Amino acid sequence: MTEEQIREKVKAELSPKRFRHVQGVVETADKLARIHGANPEQARLGAWIHDFAREWPQEKLLNMAKDNHVDAIYFEISELLHGHIAAAIAPQEFGIQAEDVRNAARYHTSGRVGMSLLEKVVYLADAIEPGRKYPAVEELRRVAEEDLDLALAMSFDQTIEYLIRRRQPIFPLTVLARNELWKSIWGRRTGPLNLF
Ligand code: FE
Ligand code: FE
Repeated sequence: MTEEQIREKVKAELSPKRFRHVQGVVETADKLARIHGANPEQARLGAWIHDFAREWPQEKLLNMAKDNHVDAIYFEISELLHGHIAAAIAPQEFGIQAEDVRNAARYHTSGRVGMSLLEKVVYLADAIEPGRKYPAVEELRRVAEEDLDLALAMSFDQTIEYLIRRRQPIFPLTVLARNELWKSIWGRRTGPLNLF
């Protein structure tokens, strides 16, 4: 399937507002991939498909996730399922076999320990695409061009803080991903971070 065909298929599945979000993620993922040495074509594909199942009814998401043997832990927070489903159906729906592209969609909401470069690019593109508006987004956009891991760690913290303020559950594997990143960032630093 060509990128144009994938785009049309995604467009048919989403509200105009969400489709605009996806377009923003594609452009941002392309840009971040070029800056940080990831594959821009793969980044675009991951971005195109990442929210394909985002507007499906809850029941359909649950059934599809069961049929595709999504790990039980991801059922605890239902917002996490749509990425796993996009990854599961990518071969049949879009002819996308590449595991890295599918993982970028699969983990775009939760992150995970040991994210690949492509997974990081798509995760951050989702968080900072031009349509996103929240207090820290400008700083994240700036840092994302200089230091992908630092931007990702800051984005995890931002998400976790947001969820805590709203008294929402925190997905434990996101905390592990966040801890891993900060450990590596502090480990490679000689001086203090001046970004807060
Ligand atoms: Fe999503
Ligand atoms: Fe998204």
